[in-house]
Amino acid sequence: MKFYSTNNANASFRDKNKSFSFEQAVMMGLAEDGGLFMPESLPEIEKDFFTRLEKISFREIAFRIAEIFIGQEISLSNLADIINDAINFPAPLHKLNNEISILELFHGPTLAFKDFGARFMAKTMGYFVSKEGEELNILVATSGDTGSAVAYGFYGTPGINVFILYPKGKVSLIQEKQLTTLDKNITALEIDGTFDDCQRLVKTAFVDKEICSRMRLSSANSINIARLLPQSFYYFESYKQIENKKNKIIYSVPSGNLGNLTAGLIAKKMGLPINKFIGAANSNSVFTDFINSGSFTPRPSVQTLSNAMDVGNPSNLIRIRNLYSDLLGDIQNDIYSVSFDDVTTKEAIKELYDKFGYIIDPHGAVGYLALKDYLEKFNSDKYQSVVLETAHPAKFKDVVDEVLSVSVEIPERLAACLSKKKRTVELSSDFEEFKNYLLNKS
Ligand SMILES: *Cc1c(COP(=O)(O)O)cnc(C)c1O
Repeated sequence: MKFYSTNNANASFRDKNKSFSFEQAVMMGLAEDGGLFMPESLPEIEKDFFTRLEKISFREIAFRIAEIFIGQEISLSNLADIINDAINFPAPLHKLNNEISILELFHGPTLAFKDFGARFMAKTMGYFVSKEGEELNILVATSGDTGSAVAYGFYGTPGINVFILYPKGKVSLIQEKQLTTLDKNITALEIDGTFDDCQRLVKTAFVDKEICSRMRLSSANSINIARLLPQSFYYFESYKQIENKKNKIIYSVPSGNLGNLTAGLIAKKMGLPINKFIGAANSNSVFTDFINSGSFTPRPSVQTLSNAMDVGNPSNLIRIRNLYSDLLGDIQNDIYSVSFDDVTTKEAIKELYDKFGYIIDPHGAVGYLALKDYLEKFNSDKYQSVVLETAHPAKFKDVVDEVLSVSVEIPERLAACLSKKKRTVELSSDFEEFKNYLLNKS
């Protein structure tokens, strides 16, 4: 499979020289023209795959999908190793009742769905780095969740050093512990500034000639194609677990940068019979506004309880538009979107607990609200619905405990890092200081 840049999207006019291998796309992260990589085609999976689906393991499902995209570039035995390493935790469907289920995507090391993408990206990059034989340095700016998934994904990968920049005093205690308690090839840089400063430092480093001539750099943020593709695996895996597949099937996806939703749409294009996707948003409603009006107006993000969805300019929107050749009607056919504020989100956390005894985190709660909204508006059909639960409620213990008057139990894998000592390198938000630090490491 070849990959193209979203800035070179028109298939009829596409410059054939601007076609990239998976290896190039993964290692570059972003295309030279600033676009995001997308597969040149999304082949439909053979019918037989769906008839056998219930007998196929999660890893086998992942392998089949991955094979379509990278089977020509990575030997099947190496690909199997990558999948077995990356997909080492389940994605179970938890039934609330006969119509609604929760897809729990938080069983990975950092308790959020980003573990799927981060682990797969780490394993594929690790494979390419060992093949190419040149050390790689990954710079990531994080406001919390992305950084820890990336850090854990790459932990111990030979030939790859990871530098995580996070804003001092602006991430939660749990997030900070997750970012700062790994050793080996992971270094946490505590930046005296904001998340935007962290991002600026990373972006400036990528275009700094001196740094680039002395060290091989890569980013690992959510736009990397190696993070996007594996997120489609669990749509198939969860569809497999749906008991009654005769009704219309809806997936509600708590959305920020729209990577998770894009991966679901890719699965649908490959033949997974999902009737409708819901892009569930918090008060950052740019995507909802786009779906409803067709016009896209990026704006600064506002802070909410579901903070991993606080995005004012979702980078994957361009991929969604590409998937639908920018035809708004077709996009609206497949995607519904609605937004909810924090007060309503808290009410939903309470409602799920009172009705079903289920403890959900604020992101999943937004997904549940959006689903309910859809079901109330379009109530003439029978549906089988799935809400993606993107993080474990213990990651948002303060809010959840307060709303439910309970004490959410902290899973062992999270508790373990809370007792470890924080280790960081403290830097100002000045680029020259950051640059000197990096160059001393090269
Ligand atoms: C990143 C994240 C989201 C948003 O996912 P996108 O792919 O950026 O839309 C939702 N929930 C949680 C917990 C996240 O970490």
